[in-house]
Amino acid sequence: MEPVSTRLGRVLVVEDDPGIATQLVRGLTRAGYETGSVTTGAAALDWPVPDVVLLDLGLPDIDGVEVCRRLRACTDAAIIVVTARGEESDRVLALDEGADDYLIKPFGLAELLARIRAVLRRSRAHGNGSAQVLQHGQLTVDLRTHKVTVGGSAVAVTPKEFAILECLASDPGRVVSRQEMLERAWDEHWYGPTKVLDVHMAALRKKLGDPGLIETVYGHGFRLADPSETP
Ligand code: CA
Repeated sequence: MEPVSTRLGRVLVVEDDPGIATQLVRGLTRAGYETGSVTTGAAALDWPVPDVVLLDLGLPDIDGVEVCRRLRACTDAAIIVVTARGEESDRVLALDEGADDYLIKPFGLAELLARIRAVLRRSRAHGNGSAQVLQHGQLTVDLRTHKVTVGGSAVAVTPKEFAILECLASDPGRVVSRQEMLERAWDEHWYGPTKVLDVHMAALRKKLGDPGLIETVYGHGFRLADPSETP
């Protein structure tokens, strides 16, 4: 590991393609993460537990899904699996085995960094009693009690509405695509009409009482509005 900074977190890149691994390590290190890399599943399982494992599922020794299962059994590290397009079944298996998120190759560094921030925020929120409340402007989302408040007033939300809010508040400012929201708040195998999301979104916005709190980014998805830009 390059001793850059332990403040942001430690990321282990598990990737057997040396070109991709080098690029990832460089980008993550520049972004301030302490970053290590290994090329096999066996080496990943031997590595001192990092905060985040970026796990390519196509590894030369152990099946990536199996690596994911074993990591989850013995560590609390957040696991982001990386698959090629068309490997959807592996991705679903890995999520079932405890992966926290996934990326499809090719992906950009900005997206990777956003996903890492989000999984770290979630794992820190769950691991630390004082940090289980996501806060963004007037909005608070308590992950432990599932209570939501806006400007200090409680808002009663349904489980789906809560899941939507958790999805948005776990990485405020990032645009969450409709598909990602459906997969996270409903089911990773969701293939139904996306209209269902609009119905829940409309109900949620009404309950929150501030129509500008959740922004629609046309053609992309949704995000929480920057609190400094809302009155
Ligand atoms: Ca590979």
